[in-house]
Amino acid sequence: MENLVKRGKTKALFRREGGVLLMKFGDDLTALNGKKHDTLEGKGRINAEISYTLFKELEKAGIKTHLLEFVPPDSLLVKELEMVPLEVVCRRLAAGSFVKRYPFVEKGKRLDPPVVEFYLKSDELGDPLMSDDAVVALGILSREELDYVKETTRKICKVLEGFFEKRGIKLVDFKVEFGRNKEGNLLVADELTPDSMRLWDAESGESLDKDHYRKGAPLEKVRQVYEELHRRVCHAPV
Ligand code: ADP
Ligand code: UDP
Repeated sequence: MENLVKRGKTKALFRREGGVLLMKFGDDLTALNGKKHDTLEGKGRINAEISYTLFKELEKAGIKTHLLEFVPPDSLLVKELEMVPLEVVCRRLAAGSFVKRYPFVEKGKRLDPPVVEFYLKSDELGDPLMSDDAVVALGILSREELDYVKETTRKICKVLEGFFEKRGIKLVDFKVEFGRNKEGNLLVADELTPDSMRLWDAESGESLDKDHYRKGAPLEKVRQVYEELHRRVCHAPV
């Protein structure tokens, strides 16, 4: 496909007319900052559909995002933005690196208010954690923008938590990114998929996300989990 702007670890961006990008979701599965890599046929389509469904939910709730439209089978049209080099992580239940950092916290503990953290987007540096003041002092966001990003991320958490609850799923944590449009306004961008979220089945507690891959499960198991999440998010009646 022509006009490649960027090829990341799992997605490729192609320039279209009028400030629009085609975001194509690949079948790649990666972990450990790209050191572990496999492909899972059909994953790109599943992630594109899940991301589309969830971004539409945000838009319905009045949250401004980069989403324009779905392009079958595995792509989205999005607004081209100047990305903010931060991974914004929001934690509703304690898990992952949070319980490693604070080992006295029980995995699954509900965090109220949800904890919003900033990590510098840098594979070379291993995405270091940044304090709010460092984000402002280093000119990554103004203080007003930082407040907006935190408030918007908590809103996203509320919308997603309600959405998943209706489908028998607990939202544990997720990562979002933000970018600026030509007017300088911040929009929610990138993806919302089982690659960038933790989700647990409400009854069994089983992970419905990339944690199976991170922990070394067979690819067939990872496929089943992605297909089950896709079914519940995009097809199951609620
Ligand atoms: P990475 O290797 O960075 O994790 P991905 O494979 O997810 O990458 O590639 C997606 C890239 O596109 C990321 O660098 C992300 O910041 C960027 N991106 C996401 N949404 C937009 C957008 N609306 N405009 C411009 N860049 C975007
Ligand atoms: N996350 C992500 N990209 C990253 C790091 C984290 O999408 O580079 C997501 C991850 O899927 C999880 C949340 O952010 O839903 C919190 O991740 P954590 O800090 O616990 O890191 P992990 O131990 O998963 O690397």
